[in-house]
Amino acid sequence: YFVTFEGGEGAGKSSALTGVAELLNLQGYSVVITREPGGISISEQIREILLDKKNIEMDARTEALLYAAARRQHLMEKVKPALEEGNIVLCDRFIDSSLAYQGHARGLGIDHIYQINQFAIDHFMPDLTLFFDLKPEVGLARIQANQFREKNRLDVEHLSFHQKVYQGYQLLQKRFPSRIYSIDAEQSLESVIEASFKKIMLQING
Ligand code: C5P
Repeated sequence: YFVTFEGGEGAGKSSALTGVAELLNLQGYSVVITREPGGISISEQIREILLDKKNIEMDARTEALLYAAARRQHLMEKVKPALEEGNIVLCDRFIDSSLAYQGHARGLGIDHIYQINQFAIDHFMPDLTLFFDLKPEVGLARIQANQFREKNRLDVEHLSFHQKVYQGYQLLQKRFPSRIYSIDAEQSLESVIEASFKKIMLQING
């Protein structure tokens, strides 16, 4: 079972992922947790190029192709083998991040980004996607309050960019209503983890 975690900055998807993995482990499931862009050597190297882009001018299509390339390698080398071994795979970001960030927010077009990503993943889509729904103002404020934590470094993009990302995710929810399930991320982390865990259990057992 392949579950992806999606949302904007500060929505708490990474913390939720860790919490959900613990609950699933307690239920006796074997779980593999991973993240995009990265998770394996080649993709982590691509991640470094991508996250360094604030210093150098990267063309938007180059960025989109690098994300797709990292996704492909990560899928083949890590996600698929883990699923074949019977694990539940929880992945921090997947195709919907590209659709929301590069497709909608960067303006490359959701359809174009969908196409290059279908080439990359060969139609291997998540069984379930949890969208951590949080207004970007709230997410950015959370990050600012936690700036001392390296992983919460403040993104240099402006609020308007993050609003577009959020809008992109909302469009995706309309487009893929049966796959994307929205979690109210303004709740406490505990409630967010519980809601996520419940949904995954329902899908696995239903
Ligand atoms: O939230 P996370 O640490 O997973 O994301 C790392 C960074 O990569 C974020 O700043 C996010 O804005 C960016 N990103 C992006 N396009 C993607 C995926 C992530 O710009 N497709």
